[in-house]
Amino acid sequence: MKYALFFFKMIRKHLVILSEIKMNLNFVTNITHFLDENGAIPKKLTKEGRVIADGLGEVITCVTSGPKKSPQTDVLCWSEINNNLCAGKIDAGIDLENSNILWSCKKCGDRGSISSWENTLWDCGHR
Ligand SMILES: [Zn+2]
Repeated sequence: MKYALFFFKMIRKHLVILSEIKMNLNFVTNITHFLDENGAIPKKLTKEGRVIADGLGEVITCVTSGPKKSPQTDVLCWSEINNNLCAGKIDAGIDLENSNILWSCKKCGDRGSISSWENTLWDCGHR
């Protein structure tokens, strides 16, 4: 019994630690899923959806607006950590193998890829 209680305490301590670690998320996005048939952001999009669409759109604009020396963009991370906006700076670039845009946040570790961004409202044309 003594050992059982000891192990229970060990496991419980471990679970608490695990629950405090934010799981890094990998978002695979086809950006056209955020657009209607006219290529515009639909009014019926939820607030959360709108925040993600705006963030990903800014990443597309930044990556396609001209040559850049570093992957750092001025886009602020839209993820939430314990109900607070992360606001880390997003790194992004085009994957030359499949032309997906890859992005990541150094602060919270969230990352993702964006496909089908070409010729959307955010695309500024630079490749
Ligand atoms: Zn972040």
